[in-house]
Amino acid sequence: MAAELERVRAAVHRMPDSLIVLDRSNQIEWYNRAAEGLLAIVGIRRPIYHFVRDPEFNTWLEDGAGAPLELTLPQRPGHLFLVRMFRSDETHRLLIAHDITEQRRLDAMRRDFVANISHEIRTPLTVISGFVETMLDLDLDDDSRRQYLDAIGKQSDTMRRLIEDLLILAKLEHDLPRDFENTPIDIHDLLTILVGDAQALSGGRHQISLRLSGPQWLKADALDLQTVVRNLLTNAVRYTPEGGQVTVDWERQGTEGVLCVRDTGIGIAAEHIPRLTERFYRVDRGRSRDSGGTGLGLAIVKHALQRYGATLEITSKLGHGSCFSIQWPAERLATERKQGD
Ligand code: ADP
Repeated sequence: MAAELERVRAAVHRMPDSLIVLDRSNQIEWYNRAAEGLLAIVGIRRPIYHFVRDPEFNTWLEDGAGAPLELTLPQRPGHLFLVRMFRSDETHRLLIAHDITEQRRLDAMRRDFVANISHEIRTPLTVISGFVETMLDLDLDDDSRRQYLDAIGKQSDTMRRLIEDLLILAKLEHDLPRDFENTPIDIHDLLTILVGDAQALSGGRHQISLRLSGPQWLKADALDLQTVVRNLLTNAVRYTPEGGQVTVDWERQGTEGVLCVRDTGIGIAAEHIPRLTERFYRVDRGRSRDSGGTGLGLAIVKHALQRYGATLEITSKLGHGSCFSIQWPAERLATERKQGD
């Protein structure tokens, strides 16, 4: 029995939540290690008020500790705790403090995300319904009709792209990579095809070049890799004025493989760089929308790379161009098309 008791005690001490047993007059009778760390409780038989000096908490206790209380503590700045009280027997009560900071941060992120999506969908939808109303109300000639239908088509394209990007992001967050320990794919081949697509997108307005000196095989999912490179290349073309250059470089640096998409475009001011991979973050909202951006491209790139332990580094100079560089860990590189090479 003593051994069993010791095991229970050890488990309770290892709990991340703070547990405190109070007697009838709110004096501390027992506490676990988390409570000791959180509230700096030293010794029993002292009132809980000595360690939680918060008028709201005092009122809550005096009122019988009904609904759970949200509490901040000066000893843990920036953290939020949910405090609950349970009657453990006739004379004792159990106080539990659970850190809900991360949960609250995720809730806020989710709320922002939904608000952003609603806004992003409503904008093109408002334009579409405006044009449809005009077309119904006015007797338009063929030319104007075509113009209105073109505009409606453009806005529907924006909505389609947005929904496609949202689905890709959701998939990247929830699914494991398809065929995770992938058979290596030919990255030389893939980059050649994608650079060809970028040339088509540019329509001859940019000079786009490819340098391949890195290993030929990369252990990654071909669709993930396409998504990543296509997003970076599309951005490079869209944010580089006519006459500019885009360079794709695949090389070995030490043990790593580095894929670099560089452009001589509009560049990005330093203060924006850390936030570029956030969903819907754009430097210039109007410019992004006009060029067909969804604001999700770099968030998708970041999520896709996380699955492979690869990292994205962004360097840029406003007015001079940007460089998006991906570091692939050595274990992802292969010199032959052999699985597990
Ligand atoms: P978007 O669909 O708006 O391009 P992204 O997530 O792909 O969304 O990029 C986020 C923002 O980063 C863009 O709105 C743009 O301001 C900036 N950006 C991305 N790539 C480049 C680039 N190559 N040159 C300049 N700015 C860029």
